[in-house]
Amino acid sequence: MASALQAVRGMNDVLPDEAQLWERFEDSARSVFTQYGYRNIRVPIVEPTALFVRGIGQYTDVVEHEMYTFEDKLNGESLTLRPEATAGIVRATIQHNLTYERPQRVWTAGPMFRHERPQKGRYRQFHQVDAEALGFAGPDVDAEQIVMLARLWKALGLSGIDLQINSIGNAEERLAHRRELIAHFEGNADVLDVDARRRLHTNPLRILDSKNPAMQPIIDAAPKLVDRIEDASRTHFEGLQTLLSEAGMRFAVNPRLVRGLDYYNRTVFEWVVTGDLLGAQGTVAGGGRYDGLFEVLGGKPNFACGFAIGVERMILLLAAQDAKGKTQCDAPIAYVVHDGAAAGQLARRVGEHLRDSGMAIVVNAGGGSFKSQMKRADASGARFALIIGDEEATAGTVAVKPLRAGGVQVAVPADELPARLSALAE
Ligand code: ATP
Ligand code: MG
Repeated sequence: MASALQAVRGMNDVLPDEAQLWERFEDSARSVFTQYGYRNIRVPIVEPTALFVRGIGQYTDVVEHEMYTFEDKLNGESLTLRPEATAGIVRATIQHNLTYERPQRVWTAGPMFRHERPQKGRYRQFHQVDAEALGFAGPDVDAEQIVMLARLWKALGLSGIDLQINSIGNAEERLAHRRELIAHFEGNADVLDVDARRRLHTNPLRILDSKNPAMQPIIDAAPKLVDRIEDASRTHFEGLQTLLSEAGMRFAVNPRLVRGLDYYNRTVFEWVVTGDLLGAQGTVAGGGRYDGLFEVLGGKPNFACGFAIGVERMILLLAAQDAKGKTQCDAPIAYVVHDGAAAGQLARRVGEHLRDSGMAIVVNAGGGSFKSQMKRADASGARFALIIGDEEATAGTVAVKPLRAGGVQVAVPADELPARLSALAE
């Protein structure tokens, strides 16, 4: 026997029992986003490597360490599996002139790829649901995205997800702050770890993100970007806070909040879950403004604000908070058990007939004894077994047997099944 193959490390199968939660999450996201006028967009999973190097930034963890990059065997072009969706969406927007006439609200969902050390809540293929408001200067649209996410958590019945916000100003403000930051860390060079020393002159903002306990005192004492931002950025940030307060949102300003991606400016936000469940992987969604990205990717200057939700982390939350955990919500209404050639014919006809009126029906396939078919009916989660033997096939009736709640088995003429079954299922 050949040896069984395994999935690639850090890339997960989502099996049907768990996929129910995924569908519930995706359905809720789609319907909430649609309520705010966001429209679906789909972009390729593979893009030119240059898109991410330019769009995310050379000295980020993602580009330096985490990308799945390969050469197209036919023409030698360097290609990369997308580590995030924003750069591709902005490329598509520029390429198709999407924001030419008016700004756009768009969303997408799908797999992303980063070569990280797999652990709970961190994988090499993971999924994001992503929304972008393109061509809006904000802060109204920034606040609206945050309010939209709060509505999504509510729709999913999730609580305990806390909002943190910050402003990282504009490029000049960051440059001025960067000089101060480098000076500050140079003055404490003996405390810096290897990572921090490497980042000191490439991406010193990322040092603030470090989890190294030995460095916390000098990180705490570092000059804060939010204290250095000037009038326009400050007004924007204050506007955001006013809008959030008006909407009744609770938030904390976290001056240490910076995004890993270079193209962010002004608004940054994260939704964080504290506690054991997600541990260090507590950020379930992150976003902010990236007004610089259009120009970096060769487009006309444009405003943009967006966020990404980490779907695997949401699923961990949903599974933990789901009291009904094991209820199967994709179960059919009925499972059709049949024995004999005539019964099989009637079973398939009844199945199609019921599906015409919108019901989910599983017709037994692959034969089996009456007993084993009844076992499958039960395992399917169906509320009713529809039983058809020789006798029923001759009479043109079906025995309807309730499988979950009590109730007695009744014989129903096949033609009356759609009406009778939907009455019984009420
Ligand atoms: P982290 O600090 O956790 O590495 P990040 O800053 O790299 O996050 P973003 O690029 O902002 O994350 O992605 C948005 C969201 O996608 C994260 O908040 C997280 O929920 C999710 N995410 C990011 N990387 C992974 C991964 N490797 N596996 C699972 N989910 C991820
Ligand atoms: Mg990361």
